[in-house]
Amino acid sequence: MHDFIIIGGGVAGLSAGARLAGLGDVLLVEAEAQLGYHASGRSAALYEADYGAPATVTLARASGEELAEMGVLSRRGFLVVAQAHEEAAFARDCADLRMTRIGPAEAQAMVPILDLDRVAFAAHTDAAQNIDTDLMLQTYARRLRERGGAIRTGARAAAIARDGEGWTVTLDSGEELRARRLVDAAGAWADRVAAMAGLPGIGLTPCRRSIAQLPAPEGHDIRAWPMIFGAGETWYAKPEAGKWLVSPADEDPVEPHDAWADDMVLAEGLARYEEMVTVPVTRVETSWAGLRSFAPDRTLVLGPDPLDPAFIWCAGQGGQGFLSAPGAARVMEEAAGGAPSGFAPAILAALSPARLR
Ligand SMILES: Cc1cc2nc3c(=O)[nH]c(=O)nc-3n(C[C@H](O)[C@H](O)[C@H](O)COP(=O)(O)OP(=O)(O)OC[C@H]3O[C@@H](n4cnc5c(N)ncnc54)[C@H](O)[C@@H]3O)c2cc1C
Repeated sequence: MHDFIIIGGGVAGLSAGARLAGLGDVLLVEAEAQLGYHASGRSAALYEADYGAPATVTLARASGEELAEMGVLSRRGFLVVAQAHEEAAFARDCADLRMTRIGPAEAQAMVPILDLDRVAFAAHTDAAQNIDTDLMLQTYARRLRERGGAIRTGARAAAIARDGEGWTVTLDSGEELRARRLVDAAGAWADRVAAMAGLPGIGLTPCRRSIAQLPAPEGHDIRAWPMIFGAGETWYAKPEAGKWLVSPADEDPVEPHDAWADDMVLAEGLARYEEMVTVPVTRVETSWAGLRSFAPDRTLVLGPDPLDPAFIWCAGQGGQGFLSAPGAARVMEEAAGGAPSGFAPAILAALSPARLR
């Protein structure tokens, strides 16, 4: 009998598992052959602490130090650009993300392909950083194992049954696993896992977000360019390992599945990006999509379900699963009876599944 079975080997399950392994015997099961195959393998890998709902921002700010200690952050910077008719959206972004307004020419000095005939407004912050998401997943997996926990990949939970002592999780191989408490870190599938456990969902909506990988614009060294957002998050672009990633910033609700990019959505997003730059898109090298899963209030859902406290949610990470993970894992530790997270009761209440029951 394990103390915890964690369902899901993305950043949510691994970061929570690394903490919970200090409290008892943890087994993490991941359906796919590799960890981080779904959302956690497809992100834009940015740390921008002021992005998201208030409780998420609190988690993100509290996560910065641990991310830095893990050695996963590196300098990036963040630029918002807007056309003249986008002034209202631009002003909201500046306020939300606490950015400094700069002149269009200053923005162009940072990213020389910006089209000064189009860019009417620009703002910048140095606070945004790259996250080495692979290193982060590996570090959490190593910590989980070092603390005596175990990870099984290719292990899909196919049925879940409750009895007086805890849970029996039946894998699709037929093997049965037992635990006192169950942690639902199944990303887009979290409501489905709850349904298997006989609990109502939390109203999670998986939303597709796509990315096109382009070659670096010819003749430009893009390594030091900041990430660029079209005002109101209508597209974004980011340098990554010598390539230029452009996202339509799509947010289309879908059923949980192994997501892929929709060609039309990608083409429309690339057109929005092209409006703002002087170098046209000539070639998409590859593209992909992942699911960002949101609770109705777009805030993470962390802690025991009031309907059955032996079922612990770790879901609703939306577009902030990496940048909030260290803080979220501390909340999970406290929720499971471990050390206090240090977050105020109002923040814990804003994150608790009880708000959705
Ligand atoms: C395009 C894009 C850009 C993003 N950019 C950023 C960013 O810049 N910064 C940031 O912080 N976040 C970003 N995100 C969000 C981030 O990627 C997610 O919040 C995070 O990866 C969610 O992690 P997770 O562990 O909850 O989900 P997942 O990584 O999807 O993991 C859930 C796992 O559960 C497994 N599972 C499901 N059902 C079962 C079952 N029955 N049995 C066993 N296993 C099961 C799945 O196979 C899956 O591996 C982005 C996401 C996308 C798609």
